[in-house]
Amino acid sequence: MDNIERILDANQRYAEHQHDPRLSSSPFLQLVVITCMDCRVDPYKALGLAPGEAHILRNAGGIVTRDTLRSLVVSHNLLGTREAVIIMHTDCGMRKYGDADIRRRIRANHGVSTRAKFESFDSMEEALARSIAAIRACPGLAPTFEVTGLVFDVADGRLRGLEGGEPGPAV
Ligand SMILES: [Zn+2]
Repeated sequence: MDNIERILDANQRYAEHQHDPRLSSSPFLQLVVITCMDCRVDPYKALGLAPGEAHILRNAGGIVTRDTLRSLVVSHNLLGTREAVIIMHTDCGMRKYGDADIRRRIRANHGVSTRAKFESFDSMEEALARSIAAIRACPGLAPTFEVTGLVFDVADGRLRGLEGGEPGPAV
């Protein structure tokens, strides 16, 4: 079975048994989760979330980019969210591979040189602090919009604060 067949097959069961058409498009918990696209991170299961409860924004690294801010501003102003949690994770590819590695790989695979920024990072602490600062400085978000940074450990599935301690505000 190829991927699309598999997806359509699963969707049929989902539509019949699980989908709830009564959910509001405004997240019930007024929460936005920003996290990496890593397939080991399942924000719904790992955070105990259900559809309708939170917006989930994902990209490579779980970095707050210009596009993340675009979505956050829409989420906050139109759909009533008031808080974001940024969840980075251990063993993230965006830490293992730098922008230079990514550019080299693109050149090797496609013969194309690029100066694009891929937002790789050396320090998760610094990357998280930059993301939090970007949210706090965003003029389209209320000063009361809250942001917390956490780290998901892919080895044991636990969320921790930055220093490996109890979860809490990162900076
Ligand atoms: Zn990652």
